[in-house]
Amino acid sequence: MTSQELKALTGQYIMNTYGRFPVAIDHGQGARLYDPEGNEYIDFTSGIGVTDLGYGYQPWVDAVAAQAKKLSHASNLFYTEPPALLAKTLCERTGESCVFFANGGGEANEGMIKLARKYSFDKYGKGRAAIITLNNSFHGRTITTLMATGQEVFHNYFFPFTEGFRYADANDLASLEAAAGDDVCAVMVELVQGEGGVLPLDKEYVQAVAKLCAQRDWLLLVDEVQTGVGRTGSLFAFQQYGVLPDVVSFAKGIAGGLPMSGILASEKCRNVLGPGTHATTFGANPVCAAAGLVVQETLTDAFLEEVKTKGAYLRQQIEALDLPCFGKTRGLGLMIGIEVKEGYDKGDIAAKLIENGLLVLTAGPGMRLLPPLVITKEEMDQGLAIMKKALG
Ligand SMILES: *Cc1c(COP(=O)(O)O)cnc(C)c1O
Repeated sequence: MTSQELKALTGQYIMNTYGRFPVAIDHGQGARLYDPEGNEYIDFTSGIGVTDLGYGYQPWVDAVAAQAKKLSHASNLFYTEPPALLAKTLCERTGESCVFFANGGGEANEGMIKLARKYSFDKYGKGRAAIITLNNSFHGRTITTLMATGQEVFHNYFFPFTEGFRYADANDLASLEAAAGDDVCAVMVELVQGEGGVLPLDKEYVQAVAKLCAQRDWLLLVDEVQTGVGRTGSLFAFQQYGVLPDVVSFAKGIAGGLPMSGILASEKCRNVLGPGTHATTFGANPVCAAAGLVVQETLTDAFLEEVKTKGAYLRQQIEALDLPCFGKTRGLGLMIGIEVKEGYDKGDIAAKLIENGLLVLTAGPGMRLLPPLVITKEEMDQGLAIMKKALG
């Protein structure tokens, strides 16, 4: 099928909920993607932070194929090996105690919210269910996680929404105190706000929030759907902030391109969700978990150091290009935001880069780059050369 035919077919039969770029993707290798006509694109997106091992990574392909052949699915009413091994690795590498596996980021956050409310209900009874989240955050597209998202623009159309969310300004402890009350059970944050524009929280602020949570027996819920699984140069971003969250959600990159998500819970939260309180048919799929194990094997400490080095290199090289449309860069590891200067439009810039063979994302007011974590220097340099040519 040609790109033109594919666009027409999609337009007719797939619900029109995405503002797509005019590019069809057919196959990929490393950090390179190709359309049906064979045109090449350097990928600075990883889907949206999903394909951390790039495309066609042989150990991943082999593990997925072998597990698909051996056992594709068994319900959670039975025991299977890959999710048990993946949960063990995640706990051992983070200091958390146990995992619940789900399928997507919003769904993982739903589980995290349910856990926080039940933790409080079990201990204090009704009336202590409010969760404070941050302005400019993004937590998902379900009726509840839309409300957890601290952006007014998402609180529309789908009334009535779930009650019990209040919002505080990021990096502002006084604002958090102002939202506090006897009815609060948890605080929920992204350590680097992703969709909001790649905005890292301050370390001192996060540590102060963690302390406040411990004092008031609020659960500290960290949404690492985008920052998790090596993206920021540590397995989870919280490891760079020196805190141990009560619950952490993960998704996007966890299985290197297959749909999987989950939450990691600390010891005190281990038994909050018991049989009959939380479940999902597809969760802990053995093929996805086998893929996730390859991701974990690949993301060694040395590999994670490389992620930091690559992120620093990309940011420094982008700033050195001194392009008229770009200001400063920000972020953590290979989660990079670029300021777009007044008079320029982020959508136009993205379209121009994509037209020239470099896939990029936007977020909040600027550009966002989430390259595959395995990206090579040669691939980064090729992307930078496209940036210079297209925007110089
Ligand atoms: C992408 C994202 C979500 C939503 O994940 P889905 O898999 O699209 O449901 C939630 N939180 C954060 C921080 C995200 O980046």
